[in-house]
Amino acid sequence: MAHIVILGAGTGGMPAAYELRAKIDKTHRITVVNALDYFQFVPSNPWVAVGWRQRSETTLEIRPHLAKKGIDFIGQRVDRIDAQGNAIELADGQRVDYDYLIITTGPKLAFEDVPGSGPIAGTTHSICTIDHAESTWADYQEFMQDPGPAIIGAMPGASCFGPAYEFAFIFNKDLQRRKLRNKVPMTFVTSEPYIGHMGLGGVGDSKGMLESDLRNNHIQWICNAKVTKVEPGKMFVTELGEDGQVKKEHELPFKFSMMLPAFKGVEAVAQVEGLCNPRGFVLIDEFQRSQKFRNIFSAGVCVAIPPVEVTPVPTGAPKTGYMIESMITAIVQNIAAELDGQPAEAKGTWNAICLADMGDTGAAFVALPQIPPRNVNWFKRGKWVHLAKVAFEKYFMYKMKHGTSEPLYEKHVLKALGIERLEK
Ligand code: FAD
Repeated sequence: MAHIVILGAGTGGMPAAYELRAKIDKTHRITVVNALDYFQFVPSNPWVAVGWRQRSETTLEIRPHLAKKGIDFIGQRVDRIDAQGNAIELADGQRVDYDYLIITTGPKLAFEDVPGSGPIAGTTHSICTIDHAESTWADYQEFMQDPGPAIIGAMPGASCFGPAYEFAFIFNKDLQRRKLRNKVPMTFVTSEPYIGHMGLGGVGDSKGMLESDLRNNHIQWICNAKVTKVEPGKMFVTELGEDGQVKKEHELPFKFSMMLPAFKGVEAVAQVEGLCNPRGFVLIDEFQRSQKFRNIFSAGVCVAIPPVEVTPVPTGAPKTGYMIESMITAIVQNIAAELDGQPAEAKGTWNAICLADMGDTGAAFVALPQIPPRNVNWFKRGKWVHLAKVAFEKYFMYKMKHGTSEPLYEKHVLKALGIERLEK
């Protein structure tokens, strides 16, 4: 009998537990360990931040749902991984042994990279966690009493640009509905070299379409933006040219700001010698397995993938839902194969598919492979994307509640987008 520990119960970890339980023999034990005792559907956070969703709609208590499927749960932070000794150490000092460890710890939010930024400093907001999104909503309600300039965007080193665009357009739409948009000059400040780059070198006509959407909604933008520090009400931005030289220094006043930070790996994972790259992301092979520790697999935002291209201000490649789902499926197949005495040969697909909401419309893209030139390079807009994203949210939460093990993208999203199958 093997004991498989899944570290992190987010978008990757929860489906991993359900898929693994459905795949391997019941004699093997599965334990999920998560710092919080609830699951949160991170993609809903832009809606939470403008009051369009409540916490109760996008979170759920983990333990009872896993218990129904015979999966153990420990609601504690992991402080150390003893990879040599095949054990994890919890915040309360407990040690949990494993035969296999699946690391799905997501990002550490690197607000410290830009002095004065982030929710703790109390200057720029975040939507990366449900707590952050709720505090953004609280501040947004105050802001509406006395509106002024707003800055939305992404910090140097960011890799997750989709939610920054989503929030800019959702915030814009919400202000329009409240008839306050005329009182809020908006600027999109981004480390991307051009609008619509998204850490992917652009997808289809993402540049033209998103520039047009920003223009149509009176949102100014600054690209190649290196935010160097933030003070209350003021953002310091060095704008670089294509050659990487300083083009312009900006001091931008704001009354409200939401900036996506750069990501790193969480400490407990980053500090394991030989497991990670210098930013703390897990180094894996094509089978999602640690290059150093053969019984450790990893998926999601916490794995190391190279940037698509070098940009004047550093940017990273996004790790999105379909990619995460396919990484998880590969890990489940690989662990199941090893338990059966077979070689672990399943691979995930590192292609990007994303549904980005824009309030009442949306943009969908498919980039296959991630690095251009591509076989599929597809970017489309329309109301249907907004509806699809709402449907996706409902279905993902249903899946988490009921422990459905079927892969969502493979079964439904690809078909809905008219794509039969993406090659691995
Ligand atoms: P997470 O979902 O972040 O899960 C990590 C889990 O690990 C958390 O529960 C955390 O508490 C736990 N953890 C971390 N450290 C420890 C520790 N030391 N001990 C115990 N537990 C720990 N992608 C899309 O495809 N579509 C979208 O619409 C989309 N929207 C996004 C919106 C936002 C605001 C953000 C930030 C990302 C979005 N993404 C989207 C990208 C990506 O899909 C999400 O970030 C996704 O949640 C990543 O899943 P994950 O499992 O890697 O990490």
